[in-house]
Amino acid sequence: MADSMTAEPRPADVTTRPTGEPLIVLDHVEKHFGDLHVLRDVNLTIHRGEVVVVIGPSGSGKSTLCRTINRLETIDSGTISVDGKPLPAEGRELARLRADVGMVFQSFNLFAHRTVLENVTLGQIKAKGVKPAAAKATAMELLERVGVADQASKRPAQLSGGQQQRVAIARALAMKPKAMLFDEPTSALDPEMINEVLDVMVGLAQEGMTMVVVTHEMGFARRAAHRVVFMDAGQVVEDAEPETFFTAPRSDRAKDFLSKIL
Ligand code: ADP
Ligand code: MG
Repeated sequence: MADSMTAEPRPADVTTRPTGEPLIVLDHVEKHFGDLHVLRDVNLTIHRGEVVVVIGPSGSGKSTLCRTINRLETIDSGTISVDGKPLPAEGRELARLRADVGMVFQSFNLFAHRTVLENVTLGQIKAKGVKPAAAKATAMELLERVGVADQASKRPAQLSGGQQQRVAIARALAMKPKAMLFDEPTSALDPEMINEVLDVMVGLAQEGMTMVVVTHEMGFARRAAHRVVFMDAGQVVEDAEPETFFTAPRSDRAKDFLSKIL
């Protein structure tokens, strides 16, 4: 890659690290909500170890795209596979898919009536059959890693937004996922808390986690992404390396979008 074009320093070990086999594959995916055509012939392959940032205007289908990958939404036609297998419709297989593909939402979605520690142990115990003591050990290790171990006995509402989002990341990681989906994970945060969440995400990227990240944080894209996927009106309009996308977007739609956010 042309380093002379790099506007900001970024950890070379993320973006220059070779990535592996296809892990998540969307093939000719179509999705409607009633008359609204929200995903239009989406073809996308996420390789093992790859960090893909998805950007695009509000309403372009980014959240729907994420939600279809762990089957929070069904699709009308086309196929999605994770690790070589088509998405399961229900039951134990679906629970395994949701463990394998962790999701972090804009609004944290923690269990409000449970402690931070319980938020990170419950899925392990219920969906994976991990013994409570082992689940707790894993949870404490992860809470330590995201910097909120000292909050373990509190309820989510007692934490800041940035802390809650880091708990949500720990909760997803506790399921030992093969990939992580982040849907605007910092959009609901006060500005001073954005970096504490992005730093955790950059750390995950450096460790080789496969990640799909919907975000308008271009600093994250430049620091950590292998590819940027630009969506508009349900279509993947561009799919390029970050430097190429930011310095030389091909489509008028991407140029217009970038002129508004950069
Ligand atoms: P983005 O995340 O890019 O803002 P979304 O995937 O949330 O876009 O939404 C794409 C389009 O689908 C929008 O027009 C939105 O209003 C619509 N939409 C999303 N979810 C639903 C739903 N459950 N029912 C009906 N329309 C929906
Ligand atoms: Mg969205």
